Amino acid sequence: MRAAVLEKIEDFQIKDVPDPRPGPEELVIKIGACAVCGTDIKVFHSGHKHIVFPRVTGHELSGEIIEVGKNVSAFRKGQRVAIAPAVPCGECYYCRRGFQGMCDDLTAIGYHYDGGFAQYMRVPERAVRNGCVNVLPDNLSYEEAAIAEPLACVINGQELSPVKLGDIVVVIGSGPIGSFHLELARSKGASKTILSEAAQERLDAAKVLGTADIYVNPASEDLVKRVMDESSGRGADVVIVACSVGKAQEQSLQLVAKRGRINFFGGLPKDKPFINFDSNQIHYKEFSVVGTHGSAPRHNQTALSLISEGKIKAKKYITKILPLDKILEGIMTVEKAQGFKTIIKP
Ligand SMILES: [Zn+2]
Ligand SMILES: [Zn+2]
Repeated sequence: MRAAVLEKIEDFQIKDVPDPRPGPEELVIKIGACAVCGTDIKVFHSGHKHIVFPRVTGHELSGEIIEVGKNVSAFRKGQRVAIAPAVPCGECYYCRRGFQGMCDDLTAIGYHYDGGFAQYMRVPERAVRNGCVNVLPDNLSYEEAAIAEPLACVINGQELSPVKLGDIVVVIGSGPIGSFHLELARSKGASKTILSEAAQERLDAAKVLGTADIYVNPASEDLVKRVMDESSGRGADVVIVACSVGKAQEQSLQLVAKRGRINFFGGLPKDKPFINFDSNQIHYKEFSVVGTHGSAPRHNQTALSLISEGKIKAKKYITKILPLDKILEGIMTVEKAQGFKTIIKP
């Protein structure tokens, strides 16, 4: 098969490699679509502690089952599926409590196992056993199914920092993750959604798609003042920081209402993980600050149904589709934050 093999840091080779074969408890899928994620950019430039090169990366993926291991009875050839890439052990304390994203021995497709930037992919036994393989509703395209993965992470995020009917929600960062947070907040009944984005071009792109009710560029407008104006001086019920900027995390504490919820959804750079804030704000306003990342297999199932039922309009965020040999162009497109989701169709 053809695969985009990441041979080492910043070195993709598009080449022929042996076709994957399923073990007795495994599947092989023909990749239908694999979206490029921000973490693919990080891995391309800096590698990852769980990646031993050479590795086929790509973890936001869907495809058709073309081979079924002899002991697998739950799936059959020809089924269209999405694969939740975070593969839990199914046995540790957190897995048993239903928090598979927190698994003590979490492994991941595109990291520990070869991923979706290839024609075919082996679905490891652990993924088959732990609910990571989800059959697609008939009306879902492979492209939409691929971006169920980032949506699943957003669903996990809003489980811990819930949006309730009538809430005012601020999202900082207009990338695909920020957009999905806004979409989900709206579908949960938020009364007003406010998007903050410092890059005017990206803010304009979000306006074209209509992701929020109110758009603020904090470089040219006082975000705290605007949020207070929009909420009768109360602040936002939920603030989601969907970017990797410490200053934005600090500012979120000034935006939130009493008893509100803040989610630090974007991780900070490894060399700059500290922020400063007035701890008394938390003490007196009784708001909560959580962080979330990743998702459990059940979030992927929910994401697929929300897209299938039209509650989340996934299609409009697909702004570029490229063949496998244009993988570098895909990586660069995402790195330059051009458009929303870029998808590779091997
Ligand atoms: Zn991703
Ligand atoms: Zn586990």
